[in-house]
Amino acid sequence: MSDPHSSADPSRRRLLGAFGAAGLAGMLPSARASTARPLGVALIGLGYYSRDLLAPALQMTKHCRLAGIVTGSPAKAEEWQRRYAIPDRNVYDYAGFDRIADNPDIDVVYIVLPNHLHKPFTVRAAAAGKHVWCEKPMAMDAAEARAMIDACRAQRVQLAIGYRMQHEPNTQAVMALATSRPFGRLQRIRAEAGFRGFDGASGDNWRLDPARGGGAMYDMGVYALNAARYTAGAEPVAVTATQAVERSDLFRGVDETMRFRLEFPDGVVADGETSFGRNMNLLRAECADGWYELSPFQAYEGVRGGASDGRRFDAAIGATPAQQARQMDADALAILGRRPPRVPGEEGWRDMLALDAIFASARAGGTRVEIAAG
Ligand code: NAD
Repeated sequence: MSDPHSSADPSRRRLLGAFGAAGLAGMLPSARASTARPLGVALIGLGYYSRDLLAPALQMTKHCRLAGIVTGSPAKAEEWQRRYAIPDRNVYDYAGFDRIADNPDIDVVYIVLPNHLHKPFTVRAAAAGKHVWCEKPMAMDAAEARAMIDACRAQRVQLAIGYRMQHEPNTQAVMALATSRPFGRLQRIRAEAGFRGFDGASGDNWRLDPARGGGAMYDMGVYALNAARYTAGAEPVAVTATQAVERSDLFRGVDETMRFRLEFPDGVVADGETSFGRNMNLLRAECADGWYELSPFQAYEGVRGGASDGRRFDAAIGATPAQQARQMDADALAILGRRPPRVPGEEGWRDMLALDAIFASARAGGTRVEIAAG
């Protein structure tokens, strides 16, 4: 996997590293995002989400394209290379990943690994001078998230978190209500995201492993948590949380169900729930003069809802994986236009601050825990 494109000029390489080739183009007065070449994206971690959603979505995107892969499996590498015409020079294994620094085909590394690997690979991708897109949850805790933000800032690369719902139009309409407040004072939010899964599961599964960021809260709970924050339009100050496990043969050291009550300023509360044991998919805001909701609020397509005044939230953006394509095109345009992404690292970090407090409260049997100020 030698790299014939490696730049011999160290100053050019440093600039490419800091901004990506397209970022360099963006610095030129005549360059425009619409005329720049699509950004080259390398997916790292070729499991379910990369295979079934992101790689197909990258065939639909206009401003970025699937240019490289990072995988521990030679067989997968071969299959992906065949399917997506990925040249040898753009294929890396985990150990050799850092050589991506010398590859001008790759502008962005999209981290789609189990959660405990989000931080180390973000730091390595940033050190290689590549922009980083990282899947949710951003990290294992707020300290890791902060280190990721700092690493990307130090290398002057962008960091965007894969909270795809924030790119979905019905979600964006609900997010806007946090500012316009057509139903008066917000009183209570309900945010519930979960599914029944893992019955009869056997073998190695990182979603059931505490060391690799397993459990419902990291996986689905962050959707409820993030939605509570964008619906409140404010940051939570404290939380009480309890966790429950029904299938103790499967859930050892990780939560099967987590319930949490977030306290926001002005007496607003958000009751959140997440579970691997029960299907749930609701975001609802109760206000002094009405209500609004999305159900499902978290889905690849078909997000919809309504409000007490009869309005509907039913904009459609096309079949899956249109949502992922929209997210990646928006994040690519942010890089090309040298603007911050819609969902920067700070947004993931704020969730991690609350998540740390949720886990601390649950560990302490549901005592109230204050959330560190962001
Ligand atoms: P997956 O288990 O299907 O894939 C994980 C990949 O990581 C596999 O290719 C595996 O070989 C590789 N890997 C490398 N080191 C590993 C290790 N130590 N243990 C286990 N696997 C290892 O997982 P997935 O469903 O693709 O999820 C990956 C990430 O994407 C997670 O962070 C998850 O939260 C996120 N995700 C996001 C969405 C979304 O809608 N935004 C949907 C699914 C998953």
